[in-house]
Amino acid sequence: MTAQVREIALLGEPVLRKIASLVTVDTTKQAMQTANDLLVSLEGTNGVGLAAPQIFESLRMMVVASKPTKRYPTAPQMEPIIMINPNFTPLSNDMEKDWEGCLSIPGIRGKVPRYRSIGIDFTDLAGQRIEMELTGFVARIFQHEYDHLEGLVYLDRIENNQDIISEAVFLNL
Ligand SMILES: [Zn+2]
Repeated sequence: MTAQVREIALLGEPVLRKIASLVTVDTTKQAMQTANDLLVSLEGTNGVGLAAPQIFESLRMMVVASKPTKRYPTAPQMEPIIMINPNFTPLSNDMEKDWEGCLSIPGIRGKVPRYRSIGIDFTDLAGQRIEMELTGFVARIFQHEYDHLEGLVYLDRIENNQDIISEAVFLNL
């Protein structure tokens, strides 16, 4: 199985608006290929996560790969984690608004409210069900990628159009 850098689906592609299918024994092979493709497709971008629908695979799987960025210099550097059939629950109603971008929506950034602290569970590549608690930036990445599995993008969660700016302006903030 060779991993391939895949084309990224851009906003307007119908696959980004579909509810993705659960990975089951019937789709395990497709899921393994998708996992490898997600990893190599994210490498070489400035992204910190990628969901299967963004590479035209309507499956409930995603990669979370926090690393320090200009905006989040203290973000944890982590090995990318493939999450299959993920779920989450907020650990409190506490939300915070901060900037997000998306490889499927080039050129702009937006301020998005997200839960600060969440409990998650997912199946890993070895087939183990994993439970974790996430806070801050990593929790934000998770919720952003999870939305892609529900046919949502971050623009759907923006509270005010004035919270959307061009990436060129963002990079000079
Ligand atoms: Zn995205």
